[in-house]
This record gives sequence, C-alpha cells and structure tokens, in this order.
Amino acid sequence: MAPTIDTKATAVHHDLPTPDPETPLRPRQPYKLSTLCVAVENPSMKDQYGSSSVPIYQSATFKGVGNEYDYSRSGNPTRSHLEHHIAKISSAARAFAVSSGMAALDVILRLLRPGDEIIAGDDLYGGTNRLLTFIRTHVGVTVHHVDTTNPNAVIPFIHPTKTAMVLLESPTNPLLKIADLALISKEVKERAPNAIVVVDNTMMSPYLQRPLEHGADIVYDSATKYLSGHHDLMAGMITCNRDDLAKQIAFTINSVGNALTPIDCFLLLRGVKTMAVRMDRQQSTSQLVATYLYSLGFKVHYPGLPDHPGREIHQRISDGDGAVLSFETGDKELSEKIVGSTRLWGISVSFGCVNSLISMPCVMSHASIDPATRAARGLPEDLIRLCVGIEDSSDLLDDLEHALIDAGAIALSAQQNKYIRVPPAHAVLNKAVEQLAIGGSNSKGVDQEWFVSAPGKVILFGEHAVVHGVTAIAASVDLRCYGLTTPRNDGKLSARFIDIDNFQAEWDIESLPWDASAPLGQTERHPEDLDSQLIEAIQAGPLGELGSDKSQARNAALAFLYMYIKLMNTHRASVHFAVRATLPVGAGLGSSASFSTCAATALLLLSQRITIPSIPPPISADHPHLSHHGRHALERHNAEEANRWAFTAEKILHGNPSGVDNSVAVFGGALTYNRPGFGKTGGMESIQGFGSLRFLLTNSKVPRDTKKLVAGVGLMKQEQPEVVGSILKAIENISAQAKRSLADSSEFGRDSLLRDLSAMIIENHKHLVSLGVSHPSLEMIKETTAAPPYNLSTKLTGAGGGGCAVTLIPDDFSEALMKDLLAELVECGFDPYLTSVGGSGMGILSPYPEHSNMSSKVLLPGQVTPPETPDEAADAGSSIRSLFETKSSSELTVWAHSLGKWLYV
Ligand code: PLP
Repeated sequence: MAPTIDTKATAVHHDLPTPDPETPLRPRQPYKLSTLCVAVENPSMKDQYGSSSVPIYQSATFKGVGNEYDYSRSGNPTRSHLEHHIAKISSAARAFAVSSGMAALDVILRLLRPGDEIIAGDDLYGGTNRLLTFIRTHVGVTVHHVDTTNPNAVIPFIHPTKTAMVLLESPTNPLLKIADLALISKEVKERAPNAIVVVDNTMMSPYLQRPLEHGADIVYDSATKYLSGHHDLMAGMITCNRDDLAKQIAFTINSVGNALTPIDCFLLLRGVKTMAVRMDRQQSTSQLVATYLYSLGFKVHYPGLPDHPGREIHQRISDGDGAVLSFETGDKELSEKIVGSTRLWGISVSFGCVNSLISMPCVMSHASIDPATRAARGLPEDLIRLCVGIEDSSDLLDDLEHALIDAGAIALSAQQNKYIRVPPAHAVLNKAVEQLAIGGSNSKGVDQEWFVSAPGKVILFGEHAVVHGVTAIAASVDLRCYGLTTPRNDGKLSARFIDIDNFQAEWDIESLPWDASAPLGQTERHPEDLDSQLIEAIQAGPLGELGSDKSQARNAALAFLYMYIKLMNTHRASVHFAVRATLPVGAGLGSSASFSTCAATALLLLSQRITIPSIPPPISADHPHLSHHGRHALERHNAEEANRWAFTAEKILHGNPSGVDNSVAVFGGALTYNRPGFGKTGGMESIQGFGSLRFLLTNSKVPRDTKKLVAGVGLMKQEQPEVVGSILKAIENISAQAKRSLADSSEFGRDSLLRDLSAMIIENHKHLVSLGVSHPSLEMIKETTAAPPYNLSTKLTGAGGGGCAVTLIPDDFSEALMKDLLAELVECGFDPYLTSVGGSGMGILSPYPEHSNMSSKVLLPGQVTPPETPDEAADAGSSIRSLFETKSSSELTVWAHSLGKWLYV
C-alpha cells in the first residue's frame, strides 16, 4: 500500500517502515530517508547466508516449476531487491528497473493507444522529445508541447477524454525551470480523470523529490544519474502506486525484455546506499557555487537562489535544490574560455556523478557550425552548466575562480581588494571602440572601399500557419546579396542595382533633401516610425523623374537614399554603391532583406556608426582581457545596429515587415518566429546547434499573389474552422518538433536530424496542399524530386507567392544523381539552386592586408587611391568595383570569397 505522507512542516516526511520492536514506552521515529537509502532490507527475501550485500543472481533461468523465479526476463532476485528498495525510498508501492532512463519512458509510453493525446513540456530532455516524435509519427499519438511552468498554459490542452498522459519535468535541465507538479496533477485529474500524470524526476532523485506524493501516477528516473552516482552504469527506474498501471508496466517489460541485468541491479543498489550523503554534499556545494557566481553579478539559474522563478513552488514540492545549476557570462567565447580553463570540473555530458562536470550546452551542440555563424548568435549561447560533485567545495570554488580569472571574466580590484566581475561587454563598449576601431575620428572609413554581403532566407516550416499564430521557422541560405561602396571625389552619390531592373542613378549630394530630414545624432537610434516628410521629399526630389514602371528599383533607391540622408548628414561622403545578388529577386527568398542589410551595413561603416575590430586583438598588461571582451561587444553592437537599420529599410520596402527576414540576413542561422497576438507577445528566438544543411531551392518561376493566397486560407478558416484548426495544430506540432530537432541535432546525430526533417517536410507540404496554396508547378517539382532514384522530400516555401520549393539533400546524395536531378528540373523550365541553409549572416570583407588574398593587380579595399569619377574607376579595369560589376552571377560567390577573409558580424 502507498505510504501516507505528512506535510513538510517537520523534518520527517515519511510514514515509512519503522524497525521492530516497537515499544509502547518509547516509540521509535520512522527512519529518515537517508537511513532508508542505506538499509537494503526486504523482510520477504531474507538471504540464506545472511550476506551483507545483495548477491548477484547471474542466472538466466531458475530450476523448478511454479516457483517465484523461472526466467530472468520475467523476474530476478537481485532485481526484486533493487525494485523493493527503490519503491521504499520513492513513496511507491511498486518499482521496476529497466535498462536506461529512455527505456523507462518507452515502457510508460506503451500505455498509450493511437488517437490518444499527450501534453508535455516544451523544455524537455532532448531524448524525451525524440521518443515523443517517434510515437507521434509512428503510433498516431498527438503530442502538445506547452510551457508547463505556467499551469494556465496547460489547462486549455486538457481534453476530458482524449488527454491520456501529461508528461512533466521539474526542474528542467539546464535552465532549472520549475513546474507546479501538484497543481498540474490536480487540474489534470479534475478535467480528465483517466489521464495519467507522469514525471521525469531525474534532476532531483527520490531523495529530493517524490512526485507520487503530489499527485503523479507514474514517476521515472534515469538511474544513470543520481541513483547510481558514479557514471558506471545505465539504468532507468519506474515507480507507481496504482496496481492497474503496475500490471501493464510489468507486462510490457516482460514482453519487450528491457529489464535491468542482475549485475547492473547490484551496482545500482550499491550506488543508492550512498545517495543521501552524496546529494547532501553535492547540494550544499551547489548552493555555495551558485551564491558565489551570483554575488559576482552573473545571471545564475538555481532554485536555491532567492530570486529564482518558481522557487516557492519548488520549495513546497521538493526537499532540496539539487546539484545542477547554470549561469550566463554575457559572452559566448568568454564562456568557452571558462569551460576550457577548469581543471577539476570535467567537460562532459550527463550529470549526477560524484565528479563535478562543466559543459556549455550550446557550444557542445554548436560544434558542427562554422565559427563565424556561432559568433553571430545571441546570448543563450553563453550558458554554462555546472553539475556539482562531491569533491571538497573549496577546491571546486578555487578551480572555478581560477578559470574565471584565466578567462578574464573576473579581475582583481585594487580598490576593493577582491575579485570583481569585469563589466559586461556593453559597459566597455565605448572604451573598446576607442581602442579597436580603425579610423578613429578621422575620415578613413569614407576613403576606402567597403565590400559587404548578407544571405537570403528560406521558410522551412510554418508558412501561412504563421498568420494564424503558429510558429514559423526561417533559416539563412547561402545565396547572398553583395554590396560595394567605392569612393568618388566629385561631390556625387551614385547607385547601381544590377539585379533590380539594372537600376543606375547619380545625384548631386548637396541637392539631396537634407532639410526634410529630422537630424539624428551619431549614437541616436532611428525612431520606430519612418520619417514620412523625408520619404515624400525623396520621392518628389531625387526619385521624381524615375518612371513608375520601375517600382522595385524605385523602392530600393528610396530605402538607400533614406538611410544615406539619415546616416551621412555630417559626413556627406561621395561614393558609388553597387549591389548584386546570387539569389533570385522577388522569389520569396528574402532578397529585399539581404539588400537592406547590405545597404545598411555599408552606410553604417561609411558613417562610422559601426567599426570593425583591429587584428590581432591588442593585449594590454593592465586589462589583459578587455580587448577580447570589447571585440565581441563590438561585433554584437555591429549586428544589432545593422539589424535595426535593415529593418528600417524593410519598412520602406514593405510597409509592415515582420522583422524575420532582416534578422536572418544579419545573424544567419535559423530562428523561430511568432506573430504578436493570439494571447502571446510574439517574437523571434534563434535556434542554435545545427550544422549547415544542404537544400535544393527550385524556383518554379510562377509568380503568384501572396496576399490572395493568405486571404484564401483565411476564408477557408472561416468556412471550415475545425478542418483548418486541426491543420494549423498539426503544423504547429511540426514547427515545435523541427525546432527541437534542429537544436538537439548534435546530441542525436545528423542522420537522425535529416530523417526527422525529411518526414516533417513531407507532412508540412501535405498540410499546405490541404490549405490550397500549392500549384501544379510546385507539385511537379515535388514529384520529380520524390521519384526514384532521388527519393527526396520537398515542400513549397514561403507563402507560395514566390513559387519556390525546398528539397532537403541528404549528406550522402551522390554528385551524379544531383547532376541528373538538376538537369531534369531545368528541362521542366525551373531554376534550381543548390544551396545550404543555416550558414553565416552579414559579412564584411576584412580591410586588413594580412587578411587579403588579392594580387597586386587588384587593389585592396582601403588601399584604393580614390578615382576622380566612377567611370574612371571602371576604366581602370583593376579595381574591385569593375570586377564586381562585371563578374557573372555564377562566379560571384567564389570570386568574392577569393579576395580575402570575410568577417561575419
Ligand atoms: N531524463 C533526463 C532528465 C535526462 O537527463 C536523461 C539523460 O540525460 C534521461 C531522461 C535519459 O536517461 P538515460 O540516458 O539513462 O536513458
């Protein structure tokens, strides 16, 4: 029978077995949990020799008929001991030992049937997500991932009959987010009486948290972690108090044959005996470490800290804060340095071991991405996870402090005579800019050529559905837009947009409508609203004579001139700006955002609102790490500034852009996007941790009206709300799963990622077809690529307006097959582009001679002797500009990259 549990008011929480004999004079206290951990006793299984430790019954079979044990798959005495012991310390009637934590979840998920629905957290252990995806795609179970730290987010998904399981983790790993297990269990029971609440308790162990006491029906642990404590075995434990569930679980384990082996049962039993002392020690050191880092000013995630979100809930439910914590340094490379500088803290995955471990979840999962892309990524990448072991706490703190000093994260303050945190990167920005900026206060930025580039984007999942509140996933493509500014000396400004109606124009700088522009200080940000007076003045003045037939070029020139007038008010530099693209314009691949990013970056460099770091980073004896810090602050500042201005340009081009395209163009990689509204604030989140993926982008060249397509879906939703609602739900599931698969890819391997994505591409396209937004050419591309021998997965991309399809190309797809496929697509009249997705964001060709590959015949950026006029430069035939404007599209990328080193963000 399940033990009854006291409230947490006293130190004794368990009405667990009390030793004999009980005397009426002086009744014994129930044993504390730490005592129970050590006392491996099972009165119904007395050892015939009185052995002190449980023997290993290393036997597959047992003799006789009708005895308790006959075959070890069904039952084994060593295992029975372990299961009895774990049940005892888990407030459980029954426990089952299986071969790993994932095996435990697998057994539990087999309680489900097709058509059932699961509600699960959105921040689960990656392996759990993988298994949930499997049952979603293979068993027909619907999985809703919701934010379980907010019970109100869970409630709407509880269906009285369909919800069969709610799967929770608390605290989560590595951000230690807290879910109210008790409240959610109660809400679930009230609304869906037959639903089972399952809790993964691995981060806590039964010593610190027993969710069965708080309404959970089944609890499982990866016993690989704290229960074993030594990282020398893999095991999973399942506990419950319900006979009906226990019967089904026992049946599955016997049928599948994944019970834990006798020798591992023995090792696990041995480990559990010391769990309480291990965890006490690990936990008290964790508190010291968390407090130490917190006092230095780092952002620390640990439930033992006073301001940890959900701390009160955690205190109500658990008996301690555990031994995993994480913290942010504000700088990814700084974090890498810290992790690399520790000696005692070992770099390793997993947790729960007696040895202390350190890891950078994001960097470990970033290993397959090129450094430039990683450098362009945002704050979450700097997260460091600490899994505290049982070493002496002063040694652990000392080792951590040494690592922080070595990495430059803290420095000795002479005034305070103690180590203090080196101010976060932004605080040292101004100083760093002073030290690192090339050009300084002179006008060098204006006198040199600047060569910049930015990628296009592709929507991988969630197009159309995004309009109705579903998450969309966008990623950069390595088809790029390139922009080059060349100095002129004649008081004129000129622009040439080769791929936009081959636009070419020249203006007298002084005749530009400077007076119409509200002046903007050198460090002032552009207001949210566009300056309509300036727009009107540009339309009427410099663009007044441009024919209305050239609307694309007109808009591009408007955006360029708007930014020039806003940014160059004091410099008024005479330059020529040329733009070329290797991505098709107007095909829904973010060409306008990559144009906007190039124009913004070039003008920001000219106006010296952004500057690039010098090489090598100067080392100062006083502040050995300031330059390192400043360098990254500068890169981040550049990216953020470019993104703000690119967004301004996008507003000029599109009126009301989402900001997705310019963010991808600037930062590269991939991101999720949610529209504001639908009960959420909306916004973007970068997805980190996947290597570049190869895709074939095929332009069907069938231009379609995006607005009409979007309106069509809206109408269909009005007419058939249930049908469209379930399609949107399915697409939301795909986006959520794609986000997790991309983020977890290095943990689960590339093959698994490619397989998952392939299935999701096929499924998402099917839904888009059901929404009526495909068309025959896109279907033809899909069928051509899906047919043998190619067997590839394709979906339309974007709202359909651009008429492009994306086809995932596996790593082992042969060159010969690719050649055949490309030929077949071209023959059908399509334009295929083989590209990769998830690569670098905005780039600047380094102006430093050390970075240059250019022969003496070609002049370097920054070394150009300013020609008198642009024509003169073109005539010279040797400047970058003349080559840039005359290279064929197919040569452009290779040529640009042959010039020298590109600095990304
Ligand atoms: N649950 C959590 C929270 C985990 O961290 C892990 C492993 O890291 C598992 C489950 C899976 O356990 P195992 O690796 O023993 O299969």
